[in-house]
Amino acid sequence: MHVLVTGGSGFLGSHLSKRLVEDTHDVICLDNFYTGDRKNVEHLLSFPNFESVRHDVTFPYYVEVDRIYNLACPASPVHYQANPVQTTKTSVHGAINMLGLAKRTGARILQASTSEVYGDPEVHPQTEDYWGRVNPIGIRACYDEGKRCAETLFFDYHRQNNVEIRVARIFNTYGPKMQPNDGRVVSNFIVQALKGQDITIYGDGNQTRSFCFVDDLIDGLIGFMELEENFPGPINLGNPTEFTILELAETVIRLTKSKSKVVFKVLPQDDPMQRKPNIELAQRKLGWEPKIQLEQGLIKTIKYFSKLDRLSG
Ligand code: NAD
Ligand code: UDP
Ligand code: UDP
Repeated sequence: MHVLVTGGSGFLGSHLSKRLVEDTHDVICLDNFYTGDRKNVEHLLSFPNFESVRHDVTFPYYVEVDRIYNLACPASPVHYQANPVQTTKTSVHGAINMLGLAKRTGARILQASTSEVYGDPEVHPQTEDYWGRVNPIGIRACYDEGKRCAETLFFDYHRQNNVEIRVARIFNTYGPKMQPNDGRVVSNFIVQALKGQDITIYGDGNQTRSFCFVDDLIDGLIGFMELEENFPGPINLGNPTEFTILELAETVIRLTKSKSKVVFKVLPQDDPMQRKPNIELAQRKLGWEPKIQLEQGLIKTIKYFSKLDRLSG
């Protein structure tokens, strides 16, 4: 199949592109390199069934494909808040262009949505029928509302134009190929621990997240895209084992044998207190659940960061 991966040079996109190339699909990896890195897909450039294209999804793009994975969008709060207007444009105009492309070609299209559509949730664990609690004017809104509007567009193109859609709500995912300066919690803590710097906990560290290792997530995304039943979702994909941020810090310090100390910083505005997916729908529809538990995944991620040249210096 001919597959387009937008955001293909980013963290998730590069893992997905690798799997699709190995599965012998023709892969076009489209990225404007805002938070992505050419190095993430360097090893794929020699494959005849892989192509890297610099393009911004907020502009139209014409190509003939069978599948579109729409991942283009900065995902770390630090990066998506750096240029919030561009973040919303990427989610909204990007979705319109990619849906227009899907409509014209008849391609099936998957949206990398997010647990952020639930905001700071009153329902715990979060189920797909929960509508969420998002502050529409806060500093996270450019991302949260952009992703919510993208979901709306996906379902309207589905109803109005019969576009075959798949909406995956991805919960915190981590692993090799995150950028050392990505700013999300797992990469921050590992980089800090390896460099012997203070581990920066925002707030008191009692807020929770549920962390999914990237290989598990990629299995879920491909399984959902190729599900025979025409099921649009939304479907939660994530690891339901919940940890506090303090527990994460302690685990990273123990696994890296670091001498780093924990320091407490101000909690950013609208930072959700708890997050844990209910994955019964994914289990039932896709027969999918994560296999890699946190320590195992952290060990692989620590190994990756400790070998990274960009960390020394
Ligand atoms: P990432 O920042 O590593 O990857 C995003 C990629 O999109 C980057 O390569 C970036 O350069 C590219 N990009 C950004 N704006 C673009 C634009 N206008 N045009 C073309 N390319 C653009 O982040 P990630 O963790 O790999 O996330 C990938 C997708 O999955 C995002 O849509 C994100 O919202 C979603 N997601 C990720 C997580 C997670 O925990 N990793 C959780 C929920 C949702
Ligand atoms: N589009 C695109 N590639 C295509 C087809 C469409 O980028 O192969 C863009 C197109 O520029 C348009 C958007 O997708 O702005 C939405 O397309 P649609 O056909 O839904 O809307 P229309 O063209 O009628 O505005
Ligand atoms: N966080 C932290 N220290 C850091 C980075 C993040 O304590 O150096 C916290 C952040 O405030 C949030 C959680 O870790 O409560 C997860 O943050 P991340 O940016 O990874 O993702 P989010 O789920 O908030 O989008």
